[in-house]
Amino acid sequence: MKITFLGTATSRGVPVLNCDCPTCTSQDPRNRRYRSSIYLESEELSILIDTPPELRLQLLKNKIKKIDTILFTHAHADHIMGFDDIRAINYLQQSSIPCYGNKQALQEIRKAFSYIFTANQQKGGLPQARLHHKSSPFELGNMKITPLVVKHGNIDILGYRINDFAYITDCSFIPEETFKLLEGVQLLILGTLRYRPHPTHFNLEESLEVIERLNVPQAYLTHLSHKFEHNNLKDKLPDHVLPAYDGLTIKF
Ligand SMILES: [Zn+2]
Ligand SMILES: [Zn+2]
Ligand SMILES: [Zn+2]
Repeated sequence: MKITFLGTATSRGVPVLNCDCPTCTSQDPRNRRYRSSIYLESEELSILIDTPPELRLQLLKNKIKKIDTILFTHAHADHIMGFDDIRAINYLQQSSIPCYGNKQALQEIRKAFSYIFTANQQKGGLPQARLHHKSSPFELGNMKITPLVVKHGNIDILGYRINDFAYITDCSFIPEETFKLLEGVQLLILGTLRYRPHPTHFNLEESLEVIERLNVPQAYLTHLSHKFEHNNLKDKLPDHVLPAYDGLTIKF
């Protein structure tokens, strides 16, 4: 399985508009972050997690031509607003794309993109997608996909375990039942907003606690704000934890 980080920023992106902090003015490309998304490829299957506002640019930059399935974590703007860009993939594949998420996320996607799902719309230039609600584990090809319920402030959103890899962004609390589902994970990608605490996202200290509790051999931090300068953050992390950056690939 190959994992590519298409985006690693929190909702505002990095650089933040009109910010002249050291991260936002850095020339290091690892400090330029699109909104968070990853792309997973096995020999059989390609999975996209979330469709951020820069999806078109992300697909271009990473030369992505195939998406078999989309998994949605939740329906905040930074995770869904590029949904319309899947049209280019529909065109290449000549098929609609099955999308999975929890009930609330799918409801909100139907609302935000009502023109796609309204029966009286002409289908010509519309994204072709089928939304499926999933709360229990399911299999796609050689991948076992386990939706992971986590708290994002007071809403329940989903992370995903795929075989022995897990992706969790926008999380401020992991319930005990979800910790059980994460047992034995070998690679964890975890959303981590900044150094200071935040009501709806893990800060660095909280993320490191989760990584330590799960005893994962390798972890990457994503959904990073401009408060994290790449090298600065890297220096503060234990060897088995790394800050992700756009374009980074992991063979797993
Ligand atoms: Zn987010
Ligand atoms: Zn900044
Ligand atoms: Zn969110």
